[in-house]
Amino acid sequence: MKMQRREFLKTAAAGSAALALPGCATTGGASSGKVVIVGGGYGGATAAKYVRMWSDGKVDVTLVEPNAEFVSCPMSNLVLGGSKDLAFLTVSYDNLAKRHGVKVVRDTAVAVDPDKRIVKLASGTELPYDRLILSPGVDFMWDKVPGLNNADAQARILHAWKAGPQTVALRRQLEAMPDGGVYVLSIPVAPYRCPPGPYERACQVAWYFKRAKPKSKVLILDGNGDVTSKGPLFKKAWAEEYKGIVEYRPNYVLVDVDVAATTAKFEVHDAVKAAVLNVVPPQRAGAIARAAGVVTANDRWCDVDFLTFESVKVKNIHVLGDAIQIATGMPKSGHMANQHAKVCAAAVVSLLAGQPPNPAPVLTNTCYSMITDKDSVHVCSVHRYDNEKKTVLPVAGAGGVSQAMSSTEGAYAFAWATNIWADTLA
Ligand SMILES: Cc1cc2nc3c(=O)[nH]c(=O)nc-3n(C[C@H](O)[C@H](O)[C@H](O)COP(=O)(O)OP(=O)(O)OC[C@H]3O[C@@H](n4cnc5c(N)ncnc54)[C@H](O)[C@@H]3O)c2cc1C
Repeated sequence: MKMQRREFLKTAAAGSAALALPGCATTGGASSGKVVIVGGGYGGATAAKYVRMWSDGKVDVTLVEPNAEFVSCPMSNLVLGGSKDLAFLTVSYDNLAKRHGVKVVRDTAVAVDPDKRIVKLASGTELPYDRLILSPGVDFMWDKVPGLNNADAQARILHAWKAGPQTVALRRQLEAMPDGGVYVLSIPVAPYRCPPGPYERACQVAWYFKRAKPKSKVLILDGNGDVTSKGPLFKKAWAEEYKGIVEYRPNYVLVDVDVAATTAKFEVHDAVKAAVLNVVPPQRAGAIARAAGVVTANDRWCDVDFLTFESVKVKNIHVLGDAIQIATGMPKSGHMANQHAKVCAAAVVSLLAGQPPNPAPVLTNTCYSMITDKDSVHVCSVHRYDNEKKTVLPVAGAGGVSQAMSSTEGAYAFAWATNIWADTLA
């Protein structure tokens, strides 16, 4: 099977553009060159695989990522609920190297020289590039929560907003909490990574309390004026499935934390003491975006040309995923980062072949939220490039939200996760 496929690819690559997407040319000037990708998460790992596939293996791709394995944020709230463990969220990078020929380098990018087109790594290695793709996700703005602006405090008051050791540590805090305690979840003012993620988290912790600690409470203190995604569906779940367990309070803008007293402080409301305090801090593009000079919006996010995801400021540097300044109605989600990656990969392969990118890309998004261990709700949308406005806009009438939570949607949610992990890394 493998040989046949390789032969087919060789023939197709030599003879025609049969395998290429629209706007992703391999005829005429064939694609070649060096692409360096920083960040092996939802955006970067997808871009690495698809640049290799859509260039028929002609473009050299190096992926820089410090973590040994990919750990998914989507589905990580189930670890807090206790129905899944970290192994369920963890996928190897091996197939990117073995099947797709991506050079996976375990390191951290620390600087970029856009004139010489070189990325510098923490180890001292320098990687030259023709096109650089940054998908570093988010960094936390600790300066906005002074009490948490040191490593010791951050080890005690957790965010668990990057799946991995913090997810497991927060689960342990919940397990150690005596029954009758209050778990407080602080949500930052939007935009932040995964709009529905905090509300899903509240449901998962409530699912655990309902079974194991029935006298305990989940208190959501939201910096926003209302639930930012799937509001009616979450509120129904809190009123029915988690009646008496979950309390929601809007307009709680966090200004600081007293770590020793496990107490959250707010702009206009009284301080709130928690048994377990979980602070999702305000966020901005990962530090390497700043180092590369591509942060252009509010000193936080990176504006891009949505036809190519190239920075509007620095040539030959593309930015994907949570780090970008989003278009109207575009969530900061793993599914959306995957879509950014595909538009960008196709454009980069075309540009390296001296061809124009696809002039009319379409992107989709679906976000499932697990209400229990088995039941889910979703929101989905379609986004199309508008040539007049030079941005991506939601397509009216496309997409929508679930009517009600169900176990059928729960099964779809697990299938979504399995599929996107395979699409990204298999
Ligand atoms: C609790 C939770 C639940 C979520 N649920 C969903 C969901 O159900 N559906 C959904 O679509 N999305 C969901 N999301 C959102 C999703 O996780 C993010 O939108 C997605 O991960 C963004 O992809 P990214 O590539 O921008 O960043 P990431 O996936 O975070 O990848 C960034 C990568 O870059 C690496 N990196 C950073 N800096 C450097 C550097 N200098 N050098 C090298 N590597 C670097 C990091 O180690 C990381 O691996 C959820 C998020 C959370 C927190």
